[in-house]
Amino acid sequence: LNRRLAEFGTTIFAEMSALALSTGSINLGQGFPDTDGPEEVREAAVRALRDGRGNQYPPGPGVPELRAAIAAHQERRYGLTCDPGTEVLVTAGATEAIAATLLALVEPGDEVIALEPYYDSYAACIAMAGGTRVPVTLRPHEETGDDGTVRRRFRLDLDELRDAVTDNTRLLLINTPHNPTGTVLTREELTAIAELAVERDLLVVTDEVYEHLVFDEAEHVPLATLPGMRGRTVTIGSAGKTFSFTGWKVGWVTASPELVTAVRSAKQFLTYVSSGPFQYAVAEALALPDTYFEAFRADMLAKRDLLSAGLAEAGFGVFTPAGTYFVTTDIRPLGESDGFAFCRALPERAGVVAIPNAVFYDHRDAGAPFVRFAFCKQTSVLEEAVSRLKTLA
Ligand code: PMP
Ligand code: GLN
Repeated sequence: LNRRLAEFGTTIFAEMSALALSTGSINLGQGFPDTDGPEEVREAAVRALRDGRGNQYPPGPGVPELRAAIAAHQERRYGLTCDPGTEVLVTAGATEAIAATLLALVEPGDEVIALEPYYDSYAACIAMAGGTRVPVTLRPHEETGDDGTVRRRFRLDLDELRDAVTDNTRLLLINTPHNPTGTVLTREELTAIAELAVERDLLVVTDEVYEHLVFDEAEHVPLATLPGMRGRTVTIGSAGKTFSFTGWKVGWVTASPELVTAVRSAKQFLTYVSSGPFQYAVAEALALPDTYFEAFRADMLAKRDLLSAGLAEAGFGVFTPAGTYFVTTDIRPLGESDGFAFCRALPERAGVVAIPNAVFYDHRDAGAPFVRFAFCKQTSVLEEAVSRLKTLA
């Protein structure tokens, strides 16, 4: 293994899912739904297979039906227009979108600023591209509302972000809604990021795979909609999250023709093209009526509330997420401080698997006491997990 990759080892998701299997624990670690997406979308995939659509190499940028559906979705949801011919690229999940984007845009020695904690593939892809990652840490923050309730949130310090930019900064890598903290960047925060990008002439890569999972008063604002951003933003999406088909590995990039062409240059030598029949099915999924997206969101909201309340009763400090299907907790109220040790022992102690947020940090100490639980699981599974976790106190 070369020096660029040596530090990364096996992903935490593989390690923890294996632990869940070997111990028979409830897996609230890796973020994948335990209920598949809509029947009609699965039927669409079967039809494509049977009709011989996409069984041979599909077009490099993606099948025209899917590119048109991605463009229509961006327009319908956000008023963002993109040309399906030149401004959309289909990828093998968001994971390939991230890899191809970084490999295409980063020169060896370039600095890439990422919000810490960050999704684990960011660090590995920055390294594979020969870049240097510069983490800007989201800080835990407590607010007491008018009604006296305490709300915890991870917050971006905009001064820290500004200070992180140097003459070597090539791009900002943003993720909202944010995995693992559940933070949804506000319009004000995103506007400040956009102003900084314009002022310092930076590209921004924005991972918006959880765009449909925002709760309460939170709003998903695509960075590309803000002034000055359309031409300098690479937006990443994924059918895995929005339609509960994480195994299909259909993702996409939308950006200017120049940026899409650059990302495609890298993609053509990574996977050449993405798997065909699923693209036709995802095209149909993106055209589902708003009621699908609303029902999906409402379902996850109820699950968020169930797990958040249960974790609080079990004694965890809970950062109720404004988005995503993850809840980050603080284990210090349980008398614990090392999330790694806690997660490694949790299957034995309680029969539950979770993810230590420290793996998503360069500043491991800053992430040590935080542990992430996924709630994209059936209600009965979440209830059982909560009752097991209550035995910890
Ligand atoms: N970005 C984030 C923030 C994610 O949470 C995930 C899924 N774990 C991905 C990208 C990868 O998405 P995909 O499964 O489409 O490759
Ligand atoms: N995105 C999912 C998570 O954060 C899983 C991704 C993976 O297994 N690589 O849990």
